[in-house]
Amino acid sequence: MPKKKEKILVLATRNPGKLRELKALLQDLDLEVKGLEEFPEAPEVIETGQTFFENAFQKAREIALATGHLAMADDSGLEVDALGGAPGVFSARYAGPKASDEENIKKLLKELEGVPLERRTARFRCVIVVYHPSGHWFKAEGTWEGLITLEPRGEGGFGYDPVFLIPDLGKTAAEIPPELKNQLSHRAKALAEMKYKLPSFLETL
Ligand code: IMP
Repeated sequence: MPKKKEKILVLATRNPGKLRELKALLQDLDLEVKGLEEFPEAPEVIETGQTFFENAFQKAREIALATGHLAMADDSGLEVDALGGAPGVFSARYAGPKASDEENIKKLLKELEGVPLERRTARFRCVIVVYHPSGHWFKAEGTWEGLITLEPRGEGGFGYDPVFLIPDLGKTAAEIPPELKNQLSHRAKALAEMKYKLPSFLETL
């Protein structure tokens, strides 16, 4: 009997902004892309991993097993070398469990007080995991290298964008148009790798 062709990809996010962005970036795939809102019975996954990979893997696996469909999850954050890789997996909650972007940035700049620009090297990292209920999975990764500025600059983007300087452009990630960020970013690179690997992965199911 021929194998059933996988037709649905569930994105393991309840964030409507992220869902919209990802659906647009995945629209050329031969798959029906669905958000978690279409699976109200799916569990709320609590991130407990020590790495971006562990979190993405846990989310993709739980959602694939709960929905019975191919699932994709991502996890991302900022790593600052002078802080030993912090805030890392704690990026969203660096200044506390419900911290705002401004509070997280304030804490980051305080921790880096006295560190000169050339030693404020950092990167955004994004890890994506695609998991099939049969237990087959693969991962894709993207990084974006930069420097943490002394002061926030720019109004665009979100999170740490106002303090993430892109050295080649002399601008922060909050000072460039969204279309350019979507070409350069860690998420764009991880997604490009995921789309490249997906067809041969689907063949193996
Ligand atoms: P999550 O992958 O949605 O859990 O995001 C983790 C956190 O990392 C976000 O809340 C931001 O603080 C930070 N982050 C991830 N990607 C970006 C980005 O593209 N710009 C700025 N901050 C980011």
